[in-house]
Amino acid sequence: MYTKRAILWFRLDLRLHDNEALHEALNSADEVIPVYVFDERTFFGKTHYFGFPKTGKFRARFIIESVEELRQSLRRLGSELIVRVGKPEEEIFGIAKQARSSWVFCNRERTAEEVKIQDALEKNLWSIGQEMRYSRGKLLYYTSDLPFPIQHTPDTFTQFRKEVERYVPVRSPLPVPAALPSVTVALEPGEVPGLPCLGHEEFEPDPRSAFLFKGGESEGLRRLEYYIRGKELIDDFKESRDGMLGEDYSTKLSPWLAQGCLSPKMAYYELRKHEEQYGRNKSTYEFFYYLMYRDFLRFMAKKYGNQIFFRTGPLNNGGPRWRNDWELLQQWIEGRTGIPFIDANMREIRRTGYMSSRGRQNVASFLAHELGVNWQMGAEYFESMLIDYDVASNWGNWNNIAGVGSDPREARNLNILSQAKAYDPKGDYVKRWLPELKSLPPEKVHQPGQLSCSEQKELHLKIGDDYPEAMVDMDKWSS
Ligand SMILES: Cc1cc2nc3c(=O)[nH]c(=O)nc-3n(C[C@H](O)[C@H](O)[C@H](O)COP(=O)(O)OP(=O)(O)OC[C@H]3O[C@@H](n4cnc5c(N)ncnc54)[C@H](O)[C@@H]3O)c2cc1C
Repeated sequence: MYTKRAILWFRLDLRLHDNEALHEALNSADEVIPVYVFDERTFFGKTHYFGFPKTGKFRARFIIESVEELRQSLRRLGSELIVRVGKPEEEIFGIAKQARSSWVFCNRERTAEEVKIQDALEKNLWSIGQEMRYSRGKLLYYTSDLPFPIQHTPDTFTQFRKEVERYVPVRSPLPVPAALPSVTVALEPGEVPGLPCLGHEEFEPDPRSAFLFKGGESEGLRRLEYYIRGKELIDDFKESRDGMLGEDYSTKLSPWLAQGCLSPKMAYYELRKHEEQYGRNKSTYEFFYYLMYRDFLRFMAKKYGNQIFFRTGPLNNGGPRWRNDWELLQQWIEGRTGIPFIDANMREIRRTGYMSSRGRQNVASFLAHELGVNWQMGAEYFESMLIDYDVASNWGNWNNIAGVGSDPREARNLNILSQAKAYDPKGDYVKRWLPELKSLPPEKVHQPGQLSCSEQKELHLKIGDDYPEAMVDMDKWSS
């Protein structure tokens, strides 16, 4: 009898729960061959405009851990994950030829680099009479369920939310299959590469990290369960979300959502279960709100395509008013701007790959509006460093903060000093990342430039030597 074989290409959907491509492959084929390719361009390549390493060590390690766990989970179901390092359009094509499969199933990506790769693979497959089959896997909402075509998606989140939240149901997450059929073709499983094979040295996490992220589906589900199982954390989310210190001020689910270890639909359904038990409130709504916002940015990326990466953004706003100033950028990257709130955040991302939402908004606003540095440089630095990098979320947020996004209300030139005082009133966060400011009293910690000579002497801190002078005049924020 002719065996119908399908390849299941795992991409940004490193999970077995709610995996539509997995279900569709199982429904179509007698045998399913799961494959993950560490794309050499993603791990060894550079960012598009400014040449930062494309995947920094924090995200690289998170992906390795996620793939390792996926392999173990597949083995438990009687299957094996085939792992390769190379170009998916070549590696998967090779496996398709060898296995004489009929299709490659995958969850569809929508942004330029990812589309180029899936198109190249599709073309290669056609040459041997095989096909790509695309599923959906990254969103809360299905495009086909929306009350408007993508090109008519409202440009403002408020409008999008109003048209969607009450009228469009979130579909139920799909279950983990009970078993996978074993594969009768002999394929070399391949090793999951270690960090050094992906161009990074092994490293110890910084003990000051807000959270010790570990990749993998079970870790993502565990974190979700931990955050919303009782009332304490999720019911405080609205108030605590703007925090900056500690594990629990926000969900910390972003890296798992970004790599698809956790499905947003699963997060939504667990949230609903929590609400059935404990009731709905502002905080549970807030979590839903941000999952919707994540979808909104993805729909904007679909609607505006490559424009999200352009300096003038989706709406062709603004002009070339930013400079590609590497010197200023470097001071920002190294946390040497002389603005403690900015420097602390920039040192956190450099040492951990993570930064709070409040921090990201401030450092982005500071770079684009105060320093006048091309916001794309900041976006690419984030692309390189973030453990939770997600194309649409990163570029969409940078678009909006720079003022070139589709939602003009979001354009923001933040008052960094007020933000610092509001969100780090005693300076505890700043002191964690800037030990040189440890001895400063709370009223001076955000403005060390205000220390008199005698105070500097007393505190053994010389502004200009031990900590830089502020790059911008901070007084304007006080008035
Ligand atoms: C300049 C800038 C760049 C950013 N880049 C990314 C990125 O590459 N990847 C990423 O996941 N988030 C990005 N964000 C959004 C946000 O900062 C992070 O999602 C959030 O801080 C992650 O921590 P958390 O999981 O604890 O979030 P929580 O506050 O607990 O929120 C829950 C989830 O909602 C989603 N979410 C929350 N806020 C946003 C938002 N503003 N935009 C999109 N989704 C959101 C995330 O998936 C998050 O995990 C960026 C924000 C800014 C201002």
